Amino acid sequence: MEQWLTKQEVKKALKIDDGAFKKWNEHGKIITVKSRKYYYDEQELNQWLKQNRGPISQLKVGNIYNNQVIQDIFKCSGQGGMRRSHLTNALVLFSDHSKNQPIYEDKSYIDEHGNQIMHYTGMGQQGDQDLKSTQNRTLLESNDLSIKVYLFETFDSGQHTFRGEVKLCATPYTEQQNGRKVYIFPLSFNDNEYVIPETFYKDKEIQQENQAYKLGSEELYQRAKKAKKVGQRKAYTTVYERNNYVAAHVKERADGYCDLCGEPAPFKDKNGKPYLECHHVIWLAKQGEDSIDNAVALDPTCHRKMHVLGLENDVELLQTKIKQYKDKGM
Ligand SMILES: [Zn+2]
Ligand SMILES: [Zn+2]
Repeated sequence: MEQWLTKQEVKKALKIDDGAFKKWNEHGKIITVKSRKYYYDEQELNQWLKQNRGPISQLKVGNIYNNQVIQDIFKCSGQGGMRRSHLTNALVLFSDHSKNQPIYEDKSYIDEHGNQIMHYTGMGQQGDQDLKSTQNRTLLESNDLSIKVYLFETFDSGQHTFRGEVKLCATPYTEQQNGRKVYIFPLSFNDNEYVIPETFYKDKEIQQENQAYKLGSEELYQRAKKAKKVGQRKAYTTVYERNNYVAAHVKERADGYCDLCGEPAPFKDKNGKPYLECHHVIWLAKQGEDSIDNAVALDPTCHRKMHVLGLENDVELLQTKIKQYKDKGM
């Protein structure tokens, strides 16, 4: 039996907005009959929607996808931080932490249950944001409508980490960001198991700090002055089980002097031992060996220098130093 409904009735029954109505109508899934009445075959419509959404279920949380793949799978536009897909009735969000983006931060917090909540900044690059603009409104109404919301996080330009389905989990609120009003949408993750690798975040921090200097001292001061609340997220990190004998031996071998610059340790630790740090010339992260033939003792400054600059000259110096110890049977 065909049931003839008004547009409003169809929208209400299917929990869709004007955009989806128009698109589904164009695709012949909602059929117009005389005097602006419509009907649809629910089973056929659901089948069609399921088919459209099929490829989305193939995506894996934590995997990285490029823009073209995302565009193909979601049947959405290739641009924008919030992309509406009418064919899959989805809203695809991007949280871009990569260096190409101005500092425009989506912060994360951990709630009392230990789950990550992303405080996602709405759309509108200039002036005050409002909830009337299409995509902000779509996200606002996503729970009432049958729209599925997905999130990608970009830590490296063009590489989008899929975070799966998200939900608006609290009322959006406003915040002043760089002299204008923005809307913040708290989002919870359907998949709470996934955590990003710590390195993603470390790289992001470095990139954003570099970006911050470009603002100029005055603007930087204005922004820094306002910062208060610290964001949080869980990340996983690889912990190396270093051999304590190696660390202790190389410090003893150095006899209180840095293996790189030859200066005495800057201070003594609580036990009265000169403070030096064990460093692996070829990093453990790069499959370096945890052995006395690959480890040295450095003062904290030289240690940082090795990690920040990693100059080839310094690496050679340290390798020569190790060879000298070896020749002396140390
Ligand atoms: Zn040193
Ligand atoms: Zn080190």
